[in-house]
Amino acid sequence: MRNVMVVGGGPAGLYFSCLLKRAFPAVNVRLYEQNPANATYGFGVVFSERALDFLREDDAETHALITAAMESWQDLNVIHRGERVCIDGIGFSALDRLELLRLLQLRLHATGVDVSYGTALDSVDQISDAELIVGADGVNSLVRQASESTFGTRIERGRNRFAWFGTTQRFDALTQTFRHTEYGAVTAHHYRYRPHMSTFIVEMPETVWQRTGLAEHDEQAGRALCETLFAPELEGHPLICNRSIWRRFPRVRNGRWSVANTVLLGDALHTAHFSIGSGTRLALEDAIALVRALKAQTEIADALAEFEATRRPVVEKLVAASDASLVWYEQMEEHMRLAPYDFAYSYINRSARVSDRTLTSTSPAFMDGYRSHRAEAAE
Ligand SMILES: Cc1cc2nc3c(=O)[nH]c(=O)nc-3n(C[C@H](O)[C@H](O)[C@H](O)COP(=O)(O)OP(=O)(O)OC[C@H]3O[C@@H](n4cnc5c(N)ncnc54)[C@H](O)[C@@H]3O)c2cc1C
Repeated sequence: MRNVMVVGGGPAGLYFSCLLKRAFPAVNVRLYEQNPANATYGFGVVFSERALDFLREDDAETHALITAAMESWQDLNVIHRGERVCIDGIGFSALDRLELLRLLQLRLHATGVDVSYGTALDSVDQISDAELIVGADGVNSLVRQASESTFGTRIERGRNRFAWFGTTQRFDALTQTFRHTEYGAVTAHHYRYRPHMSTFIVEMPETVWQRTGLAEHDEQAGRALCETLFAPELEGHPLICNRSIWRRFPRVRNGRWSVANTVLLGDALHTAHFSIGSGTRLALEDAIALVRALKAQTEIADALAEFEATRRPVVEKLVAASDASLVWYEQMEEHMRLAPYDFAYSYINRSARVSDRTLTSTSPAFMDGYRSHRAEAAE
């Protein structure tokens, strides 16, 4: 292998290029990123406590760099009917997405990869000379689209609408606020990712979104409406836009992960709903797994087959949890008929049933409160 082309400088492409160049210093690795180095969409991203353990084991230096820049907390709050139910012992960390890219870029620049920022790939014909082509170009991957039928790509859009904002309001913990409004049920996923910056994602069923009339307005109108709907949480702090358009979450799946010498990584290959906070982790793990397979095999075709064989079962488990979580949010109006403790219990079980025994050990205070609530309800 002498010549590798990576398309996309998000977490998957940056980290893959860095690991590949470290493993094979003689290989010529080129990376095209359509945006400038310091541009990104969105705000902070969240990781569950154990989500970065894989990185500590595999790459202690990058793990240390990333974790040093994180905000961390132990509890998760679910607010429903104005009542806050705290689920203790969950453990999350969050990081500025732009800072994550900056740290990965630093690691990459030290390795000698040939990076072209502000360079969009218009056609895969431009890179046909590469021995290995890595499509790390996100949800709307051009690399994937060039062979979509062979990849067996399926993209299904979720039924809810969401928009991703930032805010200067500081939240103590990852919080899910649910609210009945004049339009219907809405929710916000909010958590801080820097000492004085938080992510604020607003989500609602399509029917509710239609009632808001936002389809007819620009992103500033969406911002203003969400500031009103979540005024108690924002306490006068503004929401900040960054391409905060109302989207339906795309579930990307592929029947096969490589076609000839082209392989997909990260969101180009599979997406995970933001409510389980795992898309970035999957992208980084994909990069590790692909480089490991390339190190283990002499032929590229064998390495791509090994990559899919070893990684697919792990990814499928996680995307199944993501799908279940997405569907739970789509049914939030129904769940919101539950009393706050029952609702929080349903929330924490949304993507995989966790036994009461496990919950009692991880979240003892929450389970005490839940049992008291059940006992009172039974009287
Ligand atoms: C609302 C929302 C919230 C999220 N929250 C979280 C979270 O809390 N935690 C988490 O882990 N994940 C979260 N995610 C998911 C996470 O953002 C993605 O899973 C992750 O960014 C995937 O990394 P990637 O490198 O595969 O793709 P991307 O980050 O999308 O990077 C792809 C890159 O390819 C570039 N590109 C695209 N086309 C071309 C082209 N033709 N030529 C050159 N360059 C190109 C793009 O500019 C981009 O930089 C969230 C996603 C959304 C939508």
